[in-house]
Amino acid sequence: MLEKIIKPLLELIFPSNIYCIYCERPIDSTMPYSLCGHCVRILQWVDSYSCSKCGKPLYNYDRDICRDCSIYDRKFNRGFTTVRYGRVERDIVHQFKYGDKSYYGEKLAQLMYERILSEDIDADLILAVPMYKQKERRRGYNQAALLARALARNLDKPYSLDLLMRNVDTRPMSSLGAEERKKNLEGAFSVDKDRAHIIKNITILLVDDIFTTGSTVNACSEVLLESGASSVYVLTFAAGA
Ligand SMILES: [Zn+2]
Ligand SMILES: [Zn+2]
Repeated sequence: MLEKIIKPLLELIFPSNIYCIYCERPIDSTMPYSLCGHCVRILQWVDSYSCSKCGKPLYNYDRDICRDCSIYDRKFNRGFTTVRYGRVERDIVHQFKYGDKSYYGEKLAQLMYERILSEDIDADLILAVPMYKQKERRRGYNQAALLARALARNLDKPYSLDLLMRNVDTRPMSSLGAEERKKNLEGAFSVDKDRAHIIKNITILLVDDIFTTGSTVNACSEVLLESGASSVYVLTFAAGA
């Protein structure tokens, strides 16, 4: 309730639609997604030339599925992504995560919403890849949770930000090889036992900001399916190597 009053007030004092979220050029408030026309054109939107399993954009030498999907076992049913993780996209995600720009969540979720609308996915529940609690407290927010919440509102679907939990502060994945990543994630996630019945036989849309090897969403999906979910789809803002 309070949020309903405070949000429009904040929007009056700090309008989020005056400047492009990437290049900071002034924009007309009617521009969708808070991006200027130039930035809408330079973002690398993921089209149908993407992996039919994980949704990652494909390269010339790929066929129907990407290299990772041809090697690794994917637990989730399918993944979708919105943009290719290039320089501009990386800057945007970086600002969102480390630049204290939590309001990007709403904007990026709007883009993800339009992406998932074009797919025939009818999710019963939206979940976010959880962050280790102490880490979330340090950062002030979990960017995946902000995306999931805004997306759930757009889709008019229920969401939960604490049903799926992260039990260990895993090491950063970027420096690890495939086997190490898997080990690093063993036992990292669990479903709240008291509420596990909620996900029995339902379709879950799992949300994260970036998809690289997919090992994190894979580990989450495994736990969700073991707890009784019938299918897990993954939606991310950006994906790439
Ligand atoms: Zn711009
Ligand atoms: Zn793939």
